[in-house]
Amino acid sequence: MADTIFGKIVRREIPADIVYEDDAVLAFRDLNPQAPVHVLFIPKRPIATLDAAGPNDAALLGQLLLAAAAYARQQGFAEQGYRCVINTNRDSGQTVYHLHVHLLAGRAMHWPPG
Ligand code: IMP
Repeated sequence: MADTIFGKIVRREIPADIVYEDDAVLAFRDLNPQAPVHVLFIPKRPIATLDAAGPNDAALLGQLLLAAAAYARQQGFAEQGYRCVINTNRDSGQTVYHLHVHLLAGRAMHWPPG
């Protein structure tokens, strides 16, 4: 897949406000936050979209979601609630083609989303 700005963040070629890291996952604050808390969880190994993921990515996708959930719990967002979003391809509004989970917290969310 093509390199993206998130690949540059993983390689520390551009700065980011990193809040969590493990062997496979990196999490950093979104530059344009849509909630009081807006953190992006990405796999260090790039996958362009959720649609491009396959059976070999199952463990990595699980690690990504569990990292987001653990972060939310540790930061005290779990009781009030939070939202995880994975935009996938054009109609979803995906703009960066390196799979990422948006973790949004700190305000009441609306449904359906826009
Ligand atoms: P998407 O629209 O689901 O692809 O989400 C991409 C997100 O990446 C958007 O919320 C952007 O604000 C965010 N973003 C783009 N570039 C950067 C960056 O360099 N650092 C942090 N967040 C970024």
